[in-house]
Amino acid sequence: MSKPKVLVVEDEPALIDTLEYNLTKQGYDVSIAADGEQALKLARSTLPDLILLDIMLPVIDGLEVCRILRQEMTAPILMLTARADEVDKIVGLEMGADDYLTKPFSMRELLARVKAMLRRVRLTREELAQEQQSADAPAGGKGEQFRFDNLIVDLTRREVLVGDAPIHLKPKEHDLLAFLARNRGIVLSRDLILERVWGWDYDGGSRTVDVHIRWLREKIETDPANPRRIVTVRSIGYRFEG
Ligand code: CA
Repeated sequence: MSKPKVLVVEDEPALIDTLEYNLTKQGYDVSIAADGEQALKLARSTLPDLILLDIMLPVIDGLEVCRILRQEMTAPILMLTARADEVDKIVGLEMGADDYLTKPFSMRELLARVKAMLRRVRLTREELAQEQQSADAPAGGKGEQFRFDNLIVDLTRREVLVGDAPIHLKPKEHDLLAFLARNRGIVLSRDLILERVWGWDYDGGSRTVDVHIRWLREKIETDPANPRRIVTVRSIGYRFEG
């Protein structure tokens, strides 16, 4: 695998140097943007595997950059914040950031988070590739079963159990749940879900996804009005918490 690409968006020269030095030493391909506008440009041209994003930035602030990038790419975003009230913003507004660190942070902690997030990206890509392979292969293959607390999703037998009781899912609901479960922990856009579950040639709009998510929640969530399993990621899509 080629070097993971990390985009660092930060305007403090001393911190830029430290981040660049340490991330490069870990074997990452690092690019640097010192303001929000440059961040958007670089993200679009380099398509990073992970984005480190400071909030207080010149030109366009980090929250706005996060909001914009979330609509364009699924690379995980680790926000860097200097103030506690910014943490409330990140969490409360569901900006689409995957994680955050409060300054000052230890480099060791930052590197550990980066490593964990990139590992998750790599696993997802491998799973997507495997899924593609098994979709291309003849029927059969190895058994595949997921267990999330009281929810069991048996993909081989096309069986779903909630608290040991089998529940009935329509074929598309099952396909959707299978896709979500295989990509647990990852933000999935409506378009990607539509493409992977309904196929390229599907004519309906992404509202179809929302409707099926609602039906699935009614069947698998303990409290469908406050979903804990299939979480909405504002203005993007959904994330399955497994
Ligand atoms: Ca700053």
